[in-house]
This record gives sequence, structure tokens and C-alpha cells, in this order.
Amino acid sequence: MPLSATQIRKRSRRNLITLLCGVLPVLSGVGILHIQAERTLQQQARQTAGELVRQVELMLDNTALAARALLPLAGQPCEAVKLALRDQVTRRPFVRSTNLIWDDTLYCSSLFGEFEEPVNPHNYHQGTLWLMDGNPVTPDTALLIYRLNEGRQGALATLDGYHLANVLRLIGGETRLLLQVGPSWLAADGKVRQTPPPAQPVARNELASSRYAFNVEAGFDEGETWRYMAREYPPLFSLLIVFGAIAALLAHWTQKRASSPSHELLRALEAGEFVPYLQPVVRGDDKRWAGVEVLMRWNHPKEGLVRPDLFIPLAEHSGLIVPMTQALMRQTRQLLAPLAPLLEAPFHVGINITARHCKDLALLEDCREFLAAFPPGVVTLVLELTERELIEPSPVTHQLFELLHDLGVKIAIDDFGTGHSSLGYLQQFNVDFLKIDQSFVAMIGADALSRHILDSIIELSGKLQLEIVAEGVETVEQSDYLTAHNVNFLQGYLFGRPISGQDFNAALTAAKNPPTTPLD
Ligand code: C2E
Ligand code: CA
Ligand code: CA
Repeated sequence: MPLSATQIRKRSRRNLITLLCGVLPVLSGVGILHIQAERTLQQQARQTAGELVRQVELMLDNTALAARALLPLAGQPCEAVKLALRDQVTRRPFVRSTNLIWDDTLYCSSLFGEFEEPVNPHNYHQGTLWLMDGNPVTPDTALLIYRLNEGRQGALATLDGYHLANVLRLIGGETRLLLQVGPSWLAADGKVRQTPPPAQPVARNELASSRYAFNVEAGFDEGETWRYMAREYPPLFSLLIVFGAIAALLAHWTQKRASSPSHELLRALEAGEFVPYLQPVVRGDDKRWAGVEVLMRWNHPKEGLVRPDLFIPLAEHSGLIVPMTQALMRQTRQLLAPLAPLLEAPFHVGINITARHCKDLALLEDCREFLAAFPPGVVTLVLELTERELIEPSPVTHQLFELLHDLGVKIAIDDFGTGHSSLGYLQQFNVDFLKIDQSFVAMIGADALSRHILDSIIELSGKLQLEIVAEGVETVEQSDYLTAHNVNFLQGYLFGRPISGQDFNAALTAAKNPPTTPLD
């Protein structure tokens, strides 16, 4: 088959499909893993936020207990209660200092004893919690102050930011954690800031404490999903690549099979694209039509009419030649049967047969079916077997040829002179015709040696009582020479090229008196 732009296009489409089949499973697998990773990170952030809330609540419980214990002492002189303040600091974990308030004035501190500083309740988120970035004692250390106030009495207990930052770091791991109290927030670096908290683009989770006035935020930096996948999924990635490679291989193989030349032949056979063309064979003496040779053409939907030498070798190789020949015989039968009254009996119908078709008795059935479509004696079926591919003599082939002979089927040796059939062979298979190859005919008048071979073949066939068909007769000179040498039948462009069934039908129908008048 000619390699055309269509085939090149098909090939690049096949490559594209192979590529897609390889890449798509990998891409969709990566997509699924990405979703899975996002879910895992979401869950991780949610759990970490919950854990942080619990831990900070636990720490604040200590400050709350200290403040609750000290509140009744508010109003008493500092000297009298300062030991009690220090006692709470020592007793309660995480509590750094305690203070007493009277009328919104801090008047007693566990650190300094007597003291005086106004307390602004508005500094405290929901009146209870104030996240500070330090005090005069430790200017750069975060502090979380818990305030308890009842009437004129008040108590403050302070949590050291160092513990809070530690918790953020230890619980967080890969997760970014923030502790937010009102407008201030604390990160794992221990710094308190009032600016808007940094964005956490991946798996952001916010959780508020139900017991204290703070909330926490957990999430991950940009690109964490991919980093997580790179950390956790390498074995799955390898598996995906293996899947992709297998899918690509399968796609490649399936397409190759589907588009292999023999598959294309099968498709064409099923689509009825192999059609008979008929070339007249005329009698040597009066040049009247003696019959036709059936020549296969591939009516390809894109390539147009394809010559048989381009696909017959492949059909023979793939074994499809047998069903193709059967289809050809069926079509020829359907074409010629209605024309039977117009055919001059015995009208020879030559069919090209390959050696493979002679391996069993199926050919006999095909011939029987063919002949059954015509009134007896109207058509003589001639099976043309090329001399280049001779049939191995075997009991089955002998039986086949005997039965074919009984059926009235004739045998012609095609391309005679180009192979090496022996006289014994010709007799063994009951050969009726020799078809002289067109190369010898073409040499008439040109090459003395070829003419000599031609003369010998003609002489030999006369001795063996075989009839001769000369192929490829193109000139009047050739025709005259062959007729002068008593060649029985002539075939060639001089008398008619192979034509479609429709044209053959038209030619036959148009002839004035088909059974007796020459058609050409
Ligand atoms: P072939 O059986 O020798 O058929 C004769 C070939 O010579 C045909 O070629 C025909 O068109 C061509 N021909 C006829 N007269 C002339 C002429 O005057 N000059 C020239 N130059 N050529 C002429 P085609 O149809 O192309 O077929 C080629 C070959 O393909 C056939 O050679 C035959 O071996 C094979 N073939 C065709 N149809 C079938 C088939 O149905 N089955 C099998 N097995 N082979 C087939
Ligand atoms: Ca032939
Ligand atoms: Ca031939």
C-alpha cells in the first residue's frame, strides 16, 4: 500500500493516543494523590489546632485557679497578702506572677510587693485575657495575663509566653500555629504581633476555645501539599509511572494490531471493498469474446482503486486471500448470472487462485456454488494457477483436481514460461490451458530468443493438446503473429482493458446480438 499523507497523519495520531494513554493515568493518579494529601493535611491541621486549644486551656486553668484563690484577698493591705501572691506563683505551674487589683488599680504584685498602676479593662479581650509582648521586667517576652474581676476586687495571673511558644513549636511540627487573643497573636517564634496574621494558604483551620477568650489558627505554607506528596508518596509515584508505561504499551500494541495492514485488509473484506474487474479474452481466429479473466481491485475509500499487485502478496501472506477470492467469486457470480442469456457459451470465466486455496476441498464447494448460478454449459470456470507458485502434489490436491475436473472446471497455468513446471506436473493436474506470460508476447518482433521460447511453448502445448492463451497482447503485430501460430485465445489491451462489472454489463447489453456477434 502506498505510504500517503493520510498514513503519516494516522501514525502521528497513534503516537498521540499512546502518549495520552501513558500520561493520563499518571496525571489522574497525581491528581488523586494531591486530593488525598490535601485531606490528610486538613485533618492534621484540625487535630493540631484542637490539641493546641486543649494545651492552652490547661495552662490557663492554672492561672484561673491562682486568680480565683487570690480574688477574696483583693482590698487587703499588700503587706498582708504578698506572701499569698508568691505562694500561688510557686504552687501553680506556668504562672509567672500574680497581682491584686482594687478599683481598677493594681496595688500589689508578687514580684514587687506594693505597687500602683492603673488597670484598663479594655486591654483585656472579653475582659479576661491580654496577650502582651513584654512588660518592664522582661520587655521582649510574651505574656498572657488572665484577669478576674468581681465588683471592686480584681486579680491578675500571668502566663509566661516562653511556655506558650514552646507549646506552639512542639505541637506544631510541620504545621504553622498561631495563638490569637483579640488583635494580638503569638507565633512559634515567641513574638507577639498586632499586624494581620500571615496567610496560611494550605489547610487553614481556625478553632476558638469554648472556655477562654482565645482562638488558634493552624495551617501550612504555600506548596506544602506538593512537599508532603514528595515526602510521603514516592512508592505510589513509582507505581503510577509503571501503570502509565503499561497503559502506553497496551495502547501502542492495540493500535498497532488494529491498524496493521492485515487488519486493514480484513476491514476492507468485511466492507466489501474488493471488487471484480473483468478483462475480455478473445478467440485467436475470429476475435470474438471467448470469456473474461476476473481481476481483483481494491476500491479503497481514501486511496481509490488499488492495483492487485500492491495487496495480493499481503493477502496471500495473511491467509485472507482465500475469503477474498470467495467474495470475488460470489460477486462475479451475482454480476454474470443475470447476463447468462447474453453470454456466448461456453463463456470462460478465469479466476486467479493461490496454492493455499488448494489445500483442502473448500475450493470445490466454491466452484460448485459458482457454476450452480448458471444454466448448465453456459459458463466454463477456469482456475488460473500461477507457475511461480506451484501446488505441492498430495493425496488431497489430487483428489481436489479430480473432483474439479469431474465438475467441468478447467485449469490454466498462469504466467507460463516464468516458472519451472515440468511436463509431469502439467499432466498430474490435468491442466487444460497455458497462459503465456506477457513478457514473451511483448518480445514479438523484438527479441529472437524470446520468440524462440514462445514458439517452443506453442509447439509444446500443441503436442500436449493444451490450449493456449497469450497475455498482454497490445499490438496488431503481436495479435497477427499469435494467430498465425494458431494460438487459441488472446488477452490484452488491444482487445480490452479490465473494466468494472457495471461497464461490463453495459458493454454486453449494448451489443446488438451478443450470442453471435463479436463485442469488441
Ligand atoms: P495476471 O493474472 O497475470 O493478470 C494479468 C495482468 O496483466 C493484469 O494485471 C492485467 O490488467 C494485466 N494486463 C492485461 N492485459 C495487458 C496488456 O495488454 N498490457 C499490460 N501491460 N498488462 C496487461 P492486474 O489486474 O494488475 O493484476 C496483476 C496480478 O495480480 C495478476 O496477474 C494476478 O497475478 C494478480 N491478481 C489479480 N487478481 C487476483 C485475484 O483475484 N486473486 C489472485 N490470487 N491474484 C490476483
Ligand atoms: Ca491470471
Ligand atoms: Ca499472467
